[in-house]
Amino acid sequence: MSGYTFNQKTSALPLARCPHCSVAVPNLRRLKVDVETNDADNKRPRAWGFFACSVCGGCVMVGWEGITGFCDIWPDSNGFSGDIPEEPLDFLKQAAETLSSPRASVVMSAGAIDAMLKAKGLVEGKLYPRIKQAVEQHLLTPDMGEWAHDGSSGRERTATCGRQGDSSDD
Ligand SMILES: [Zn+2]
Repeated sequence: MSGYTFNQKTSALPLARCPHCSVAVPNLRRLKVDVETNDADNKRPRAWGFFACSVCGGCVMVGWEGITGFCDIWPDSNGFSGDIPEEPLDFLKQAAETLSSPRASVVMSAGAIDAMLKAKGLVEGKLYPRIKQAVEQHLLTPDMGEWAHDGSSGRERTATCGRQGDSSDD
């Protein structure tokens, strides 16, 4: 998944959080290791840079496409898989960033579940019936379904604290 644009010559990686220790605005300094590679057909030149977190010492690898600023990073911020589609990933990152505000984090987690179900074609109806459908279609294990339901009920509880009588879950 490509989602970043950083100058190839940058001496510090401007990530919002360290993907290893989650410290905010980490000091990720470039190590003196730059590598260039290409694929077997010489059609995919890439440049690689390595950055170390001053807090935990964890290393982040950046791979730039050709001479562009477009790049991927490993591990990605918050350590989420690159296989997660963009919208649920956005919700997941916000859920991680709001862990110090549990209600906000629960709402973002439920948003991630909702967005992931929609990405899998389960777009109709309220959230819980769609979670059950996902279990029936073996997109989720029964345990994952229970976990997802806990997340979605948490969002409903959070939503009804502020808006009594509104039982909407979408
Ligand atoms: Zn770190």
